[in-house]
Amino acid sequence: MKKITIIVPAYNEEEALPYLYERLTKLINSIQNYEFEILFINDGSKDKTLEIIKDIRQKDERFCYVNLSRNFGKEIAMMAGLDYAKGDAVIFIDADLQDPPELIPELIKYWEEGYDDVYAKRKTRQGETFFKKFTSKMYYRVLQKLTKVEIQQDTGDFRLLDRRCVNALKKLRESQRSSKSMFSWIGYNKKEVLFDRDARIAGKTKWNYKRLVDLAIDGITSFTTSPLRLSTYISIPTFMTLGIYFIYVIAKSFVVHEPIQAFQAIILLILFFSGIQILLFGIVGEYLGRIFNETKNRPLYLVDEYNGEKERNED
Ligand code: UDP
Ligand code: MG
Repeated sequence: MKKITIIVPAYNEEEALPYLYERLTKLINSIQNYEFEILFINDGSKDKTLEIIKDIRQKDERFCYVNLSRNFGKEIAMMAGLDYAKGDAVIFIDADLQDPPELIPELIKYWEEGYDDVYAKRKTRQGETFFKKFTSKMYYRVLQKLTKVEIQQDTGDFRLLDRRCVNALKKLRESQRSSKSMFSWIGYNKKEVLFDRDARIAGKTKWNYKRLVDLAIDGITSFTTSPLRLSTYISIPTFMTLGIYFIYVIAKSFVVHEPIQAFQAIILLILFFSGIQILLFGIVGEYLGRIFNETKNRPLYLVDEYNGEKERNED
């Protein structure tokens, strides 16, 4: 029998967990032919989340948990989930029931059809502000322009991943994580499933504007080093202005026989030296970008299928 691990990162979710427990048990009891493991990652909650999880485990052995030593953030909690999951596939789901568990049978269906990464795409989002939706939309537009890796729009972390994807993700051990970019980066057969995202069932969102900005910066910097090129790009108009102004000043002094004036010389000097400085920043940026990419120590590629004579170890 195939095993499926449902990973639930939870941070201060005492109010939502009883509802989640109820809906999840109802759902997994209704699905035959699979063994389920529900893995809570308690991400340093300060309320009764851990006690509730322990209670649940007492009642039902299929529920297990990892208790992190402090709050590490959802990204890292998810990674811990991947490390501890035993299933042939894993499903990430939020503790606040914004991702309806009732979608899980559909995710499994596509997995059985051979897809490795079945992700849930939001058709609508309840209980979220217009501003949050708008900024998130614009942000993904910009991000997609900056990178060659294909990014899935309007998707969160709610998805099913085959063991192959789990093993691939476990190889990406960088500490500044952006799971969104990693799901895209690993590739494999992806399938989208549409759903309506509900409002949070209880408790408060941990989301705020600072988190949004942090997430946005993490997203961009983990996808691409192109912001480092900004400096190089800015130096180009600086040098062009320098060139044009230089020609203008020289021409004027020859044609009208007007001697070069002090302020003109100063403007030329400023343009020249600031141009050089900006350019040098750009050069440093290029090397920095390379160091950044190397230190991530990612595998260079992942193989979907190998078909040939040589014997190989599968993983
Ligand atoms: N979460 C976590 N660690 C954190 C913040 C959030 O594990 O530091 C969990 C949280 O318990 C929930 C999920 O991540 O299960 C999504 O968080 P939230 O609902 O606050 O985010 P939103 O859905 O509002 O973007
Ligand atoms: Mg939520």
